Amino acid sequence: MSPMPALSALEAGGGFASESVGYGKVDQSLVAALSALVGRDHVRTGSEIAQALGFDAGTRHEVPRLPDVAVVPGSTAEVASVVALANRKRIPLTARGGGTGLAGGAVPLHGGILLDLGRLDRILTIDCRARFAEVEPGVKTLTLQNAAREQGLLYAGDPCSNDDCVLGGNIATNAGGNRAVKYGVTSDQVLSLEVVTALGQVTTLGTRLKKNSTGYNLVRLFVGSEGTLGIITKAMVKLRRLAPLHPDYLVILPDLVAAMTLVEALADDRFLDPITLEIIDRRTVAAMEKLKGAPIFGRPQGHVLIVQFEADSEEEVQDKAARLKQRCADVTCLGITRAGDSEEVWAARRTWAKALHEELPVSVGEDLVVPVDRLAEFIGRMQGLLERYGLDYRLAGHAGDGNMHINTVPGHVPLEHWQDTQTRYRAELYQVVYSLGGRLSGEHGIGLKRKKTLAKLIDPVELELMRSIKRAFDPNNILNPGKIFDLA
Ligand SMILES: Cc1cc2nc3c(=O)[nH]c(=O)nc-3n(C[C@H](O)[C@H](O)[C@H](O)COP(=O)(O)OP(=O)(O)OC[C@H]3O[C@@H](n4cnc5c(N)ncnc54)[C@H](O)[C@@H]3O)c2cc1C
Repeated sequence: MSPMPALSALEAGGGFASESVGYGKVDQSLVAALSALVGRDHVRTGSEIAQALGFDAGTRHEVPRLPDVAVVPGSTAEVASVVALANRKRIPLTARGGGTGLAGGAVPLHGGILLDLGRLDRILTIDCRARFAEVEPGVKTLTLQNAAREQGLLYAGDPCSNDDCVLGGNIATNAGGNRAVKYGVTSDQVLSLEVVTALGQVTTLGTRLKKNSTGYNLVRLFVGSEGTLGIITKAMVKLRRLAPLHPDYLVILPDLVAAMTLVEALADDRFLDPITLEIIDRRTVAAMEKLKGAPIFGRPQGHVLIVQFEADSEEEVQDKAARLKQRCADVTCLGITRAGDSEEVWAARRTWAKALHEELPVSVGEDLVVPVDRLAEFIGRMQGLLERYGLDYRLAGHAGDGNMHINTVPGHVPLEHWQDTQTRYRAELYQVVYSLGGRLSGEHGIGLKRKKTLAKLIDPVELELMRSIKRAFDPNNILNPGKIFDLA
């Protein structure tokens, strides 16, 4: 049997729209007008447009969907003038940060203008006393993390793509990551946003207050809106005290359901107060070792749970380690060790997606999220379903916040039945997720990839409310059209 190509991200649940109805054309006069606004050097057309701008990390195996013109503005005023022009001429406009999105969000589905925010890459302020930073949207997440650390502070947003993604993209997707167990996701870091509206107006939403009941919380609405409501041109984000010690412990477990029972207990443990509870199943670890060509995590004979917590002293580390061991005694554990080198642990952790991609020619990936106290039940029910369908899986994820990245693979299912089988299985799986109070995407967003599936799962009233919001913010539907949901 010849191997089938990897199931594409778009086949997995979305698809490119076939036509761009009612939009204006990008012609020479529009290119000239854009050049007058941002300078000819910052406008690219035809062969000047890099192929990479036609996809993101989640759609890189698709045929690129290139924009008609790529524009790289150098200031908020330039962003505003470009958006105003696009709105007047009814040209679709898609914002792009680092392009690491996994939902096809930055793909210019209808062509038009691609707005590359890469030149807006300055950290404007780090205020150590009031603990906040002001950043432009093109600042890399790792750059902000490092700049904060130099001041003894922590920027707690921490997606595993931190060396490539940027703050604008993190905010637009409401990125999660490794520290969400204690510090929450990107929406929990954002204090205020400067945005350019679809009409090209500039406004600042929110401010740095502990409390604020002054009307609708539009900051929260913008976070996770995937470039469909406006363009983020500046953000004020929280910084926190950086604890002196944050050791990593590796807990090895023979059984995944038991591992999730442990996660539920640890996530709720106020004394341990973990920052991170990351799970990687045994076979994913094996794939990561194969990619590296060397053992990782001490070559474990089971699933790996990475537990990280903060401490002010070595004595506190020992007290918390004792608590961890006490908690682990409630389930069967194969080992608990303190990792010698945190950098090594996290460098390895970041390779899981690449390792699986290399190992699995056929698979379909998920970003499911369930309430943390339903994790063990979810995994048990998922395993039951997989067995019934004859399918198999690999799993890694931010277990401590209920977010599971699961790759379903054919297992015993012949490849000619794979498409149909995985489609039926996933429909049932989503019913399980929703019945537990879960949702389709924990952190990657809907974009293109999950649009069709979302349309089947979402409450119609909720969908109509979302459409009304989109129409109010973007009356001509120019901002990243065709993402999250269709308007009609
Ligand atoms: C190896 C790897 C690991 C990853 N790990 C994680 C993880 O742990 N947690 C997690 O949450 N995600 C993770 N991701 C997914 C991805 O990195 C995040 O979704 C990230 O937030 C995307 O940021 P970006 O700058 O690359 O955005 P892009 O991909 O460029 O864009 C994402 C979306 O944001 C919109 N957008 C971008 N900038 C703006 C702006 N200034 N204004 C308005 N809209 C804008 C785009 O239109 C698009 O809809 C991972 C991806 C990879 C490849």
